[in-house]
Amino acid sequence: MNVCESDKLGLALSTYGALKVDVLQEADVVILNTCSVRAQAEQKAFSFLGRAEEFKQENPGVKIVVVGCMAERIGSKIKRRFKNVDLIVGAKDIDNAILKIADLCNIDYSLLRKIEDSSSNVVRYVTIMRGCDNYCSYCVVPFVRGGEISLNALDIIEECSLAVKNGAKEIMLLGQNVNSYKYKDVNFTSLVKKIAEIDGLERIRFMTNHPKDLSDELIDMMATASKVCSHIHLPMQSASNKILKAMNRKYTYEHYVGLVKKLRTATPDISITTDIIVGFPGETKEDFEETLKAVKEIRFGGLYAFRYSPRPDTKAANMLDDIPFEEKKSRHTLILEESNKISVEIVASMVGSVQQVLSEKIENGVIEARTRSGRKVFVKDRNEKDLGRRLNVSIKEAKVNSLFGDII
Ligand code: SF4
Repeated sequence: MNVCESDKLGLALSTYGALKVDVLQEADVVILNTCSVRAQAEQKAFSFLGRAEEFKQENPGVKIVVVGCMAERIGSKIKRRFKNVDLIVGAKDIDNAILKIADLCNIDYSLLRKIEDSSSNVVRYVTIMRGCDNYCSYCVVPFVRGGEISLNALDIIEECSLAVKNGAKEIMLLGQNVNSYKYKDVNFTSLVKKIAEIDGLERIRFMTNHPKDLSDELIDMMATASKVCSHIHLPMQSASNKILKAMNRKYTYEHYVGLVKKLRTATPDISITTDIIVGFPGETKEDFEETLKAVKEIRFGGLYAFRYSPRPDTKAANMLDDIPFEEKKSRHTLILEESNKISVEIVASMVGSVQQVLSEKIENGVIEARTRSGRKVFVKDRNEKDLGRRLNVSIKEAKVNSLFGDII
């Protein structure tokens, strides 16, 4: 979601004539969009701010702006520690960031115009909701982004239509829990169906899904709507019911496995990916073994594994963080090793098949495309004409998570 918000901010600033640069040393305004979900992301942001301050000391005209979750959570602390930061805009106020930045840079408001999305990316990210009401006990999001708000369905459809008009072929719908989207009488399934009606749109993906809210209606729609990709990211977090309860996830492992079965029955080639947290307070070796066993049995298409670290304000921050760091590291490694092994087997089994892919990028004559199940496929010796096209690729080779092949 942060990538999507950064893109939107960049797009809005470009309507004032701003140009995005890739290196700090070329910037007149440095905007840092921050994430608070993990302590590591905050540490990275602090170290970037240190570099930005040094740059500003040599170039006093430069402005430094911090936006997003960290700005919301610890804006005044940032201001105290980094005296050269000019502007802080919290995540809840992100819609006003553009006006505040314009003000800071003395840009004439009369130049402001409705943001016309003219970017030509094949894949476009569209935010459909903000915030979250779930209060998983480890998660800072409800505190920094506020309660769940579903955005206006008509605005979302208009944004998708405009993106397609400008060349997008795939729309990725984003929200903390897209399954609970509800705007007036439009729920998530009906929203996706309406977006699927847009002429010229080839594919729809969405994330993130919450197992407690994934409906049969959505599972059925995924199986029948041809534009909806056969991939779902469904965070499991743990397979221990004791830990799921302590995480306040509001489902059991049995419920989760039931969803996996329904999804695979409805869409046999679906790829299910997930998130796992290891070392949550109170996670015994047995609890962890249950999760590792689940990873082996479910055979996820891929997963993100995280070592638990307490986040301020959350309920879990008051729990005893009793799993030693070395133990968290070892559990993390075990999960990743198992997941990588499964990924290698899955991609190896695709060698010799023909996959329908959408080409998303081209660099040095090599197309980067994606299967409907979300796997990356690379095809050599191609040109710009292939960009944004649906292609059938004969898979010749597989490496860890990627496939290589030729167009047929
Ligand atoms: S569903 Fe849970 S983990 Fe996801 S954003 Fe909401 S509180 Fe955080």
